[in-house]
Amino acid sequence: MSNAEWEVVIGLEVHVQLHTRAKVFASAPWGFGQEPNEQVDPVVLGLPGTLPVVNREAVEKAILFGLVVGAEIPAQCAWDRKNYFYPDNPKNYQLTQKDFPVTMGGKVEIELPGASRNVQGEHKFIRLHHAHLEEDVGKLSHSGSGSLVDYNRAGVPLLEIVSEPDLRSAAEAAAFLNALVMMLTQAGVADCDMEKGQLRCDANVSIRRRGETKLGTRSETKNLNSISGVRDCIIYETARQVRELEAGRAIVQETRGWNAENGRGYVLRDKEDAHDYRYFPDPDIPTLKISRETVQRLQKQVPESPYARQQRYIEKLNVPYTAASVLIAQSDLAQWFEVAVAAHPSNAAGIANLVVNDLLRELSASSGAAEGADIAKVSLASCRIQPAHLAALVKLTDEGTISKQQAKEVFTEMFQSGQSPVQIVESKGLKQNSDTGELEKIIQEVIADPSVAKSIAEYRAGNEKAINALKGPIMKRTQGKANPVLIDQLLRKALG
Ligand code: ADP
Ligand code: MG
Repeated sequence: MSNAEWEVVIGLEVHVQLHTRAKVFASAPWGFGQEPNEQVDPVVLGLPGTLPVVNREAVEKAILFGLVVGAEIPAQCAWDRKNYFYPDNPKNYQLTQKDFPVTMGGKVEIELPGASRNVQGEHKFIRLHHAHLEEDVGKLSHSGSGSLVDYNRAGVPLLEIVSEPDLRSAAEAAAFLNALVMMLTQAGVADCDMEKGQLRCDANVSIRRRGETKLGTRSETKNLNSISGVRDCIIYETARQVRELEAGRAIVQETRGWNAENGRGYVLRDKEDAHDYRYFPDPDIPTLKISRETVQRLQKQVPESPYARQQRYIEKLNVPYTAASVLIAQSDLAQWFEVAVAAHPSNAAGIANLVVNDLLRELSASSGAAEGADIAKVSLASCRIQPAHLAALVKLTDEGTISKQQAKEVFTEMFQSGQSPVQIVESKGLKQNSDTGELEKIIQEVIADPSVAKSIAEYRAGNEKAINALKGPIMKRTQGKANPVLIDQLLRKALG
C-alpha cells in the first residue's frame, strides 16, 4: 500500500456515559459492579403505564459538554423513538435525539504526536457535527444453555458525540479521543472509564486518492471500547480498503465489527438506513426548552481547556513540555500540582518534575500497576504526601538546606509516612551543614594538605575548574552534610 497515493478519512461517533446519579428518564440509580438487574425500575423496564421523566442533571451535563467544545446550544431539544426489536431493549425502542439534538457544532483541539517524546506535536482542530442525549441499552450474554439479559445499563444517560469527517490518520483519531477524555473528565461531564465500558466508539473509515475532494465510500466499525482498539481498527480498515480498490473491487458500505483479540475486523451487516428504524418523535416527552439562564449558569463551570493549560504551564510556569503534557492528562493531578505551586511559586518546574517522575512512579508502584501501564490512571486517593509538603521539599532544596541527594531520601520518607519534610529533616538530622565557622576550619585543614597543592596552583593560575578537586575532600569530612553553595563561597574566599 502506498501512503503517498491514498488518504484515509475518518469520522467518529463517540458514546459516553454521563456522570449522573440517576438514569436519563428514570429515577433508578446506576453504577458499576452491581448484581444483574438490580438497577432497574418500572420505567427502565418499560412496563405498561409508566412515563419517562427527563433527568435535569443529564441534560445539564450534555449542555456543559457543548459549552466546553464551543458548540451552539439550541433553544430546544427533543427525543425520538428509534424502533428495533432486540432483547437488550425492553421497550423495543431506544429514546434518542434525531432531529433536535442538545448541542450543534463545536470543535476539539488535538495534539498530534511530536517527532519525539520531548517535542510538542502539531495542533489541529476537529469539528463536531453535533452531540445528542440518548439512553444506553441492556447487555446480553450468551452461553451454551441460552442467553441472559442484564438491564442495569439500560437507561444510563449516553451522550453521542459525532465528529465531522476531519480526521486523517489513526494517530489523529487517538489524539481526538485523548482530548475528548481530558475535556469530559475535567468538566465533570463523564468519567470515561473505558474498562467499565463508559466510552465506546464507532469508527467511520473511507479512503480516497490524494488530491480527490469527494469522500469515498465508508465502512462503519461498531462498538470499539479502547483508544488502542480504535487505532488498530483504523489501520486495519485502511489497509483492507486499499487492497480492495487496488484489486479493482469497490468498497461496500457496510457495518463491521472488530475482534480485538486477533486484531481483525469482520462484516456484521449491510449498512442500515434511518428509515430501517422508523424514527418518530416520542409522544411521551415534551420538547425541552433550554433557557439562556441555564446556559449562562453552566458557562461558568467551563474549565480551562487542556491545551490552554498545557501552554500556560510551559510559558508562564516554565514547566518542560513533557511534564506539562502528563499533568494536563489527569485533572486531579493538575489541580494537585497547582496547589503545590501556590505554596512555592518560584520553582514550578522543580515541583512538576517531582510530581511527574517521583510521585507518579511511587503511586503506580504502590498501586501494583504494571510496568508501562497508563500512568495517567494513577489514583491520588491513597497519596499521603500533601501538595504543600511537596512544595516545602522543593523549597528546602532550592535554599540549599538539604542536598538533592538528601531530598530523594526525604521524599521516600514523606511518601511512606505522610510527614512534612521539615519534620523529617529535623528527626533524621539531615540538615546540610551551614555552620560557617566549622566549615572554615575544615577548609583550612584541607587546603593545607600538600596533596592538593597542585590544584590550588592551577586555580590561582586561572583554571576555574581546578577548584572542584578540593570540594570532594571537604564534603567527605562533613559526611556529605555541608551546603555545597557555602563550600564554594568559603573556598574561594580562602584561596583569595
Ligand atoms: P449515519 O448516521 O448514517 O451513521 P452520518 O452521516 O451521520 O451517518 O455520519 C456518521 C459519521 O460518519 C460522522 O462522524 C461522519 O463524519 C462520518 N462520515 C460520513 N461520511 C464519511 C466518509 N465518507 N468517510 C469517513 N467518515 C464519514
Ligand atoms: Mg452511525
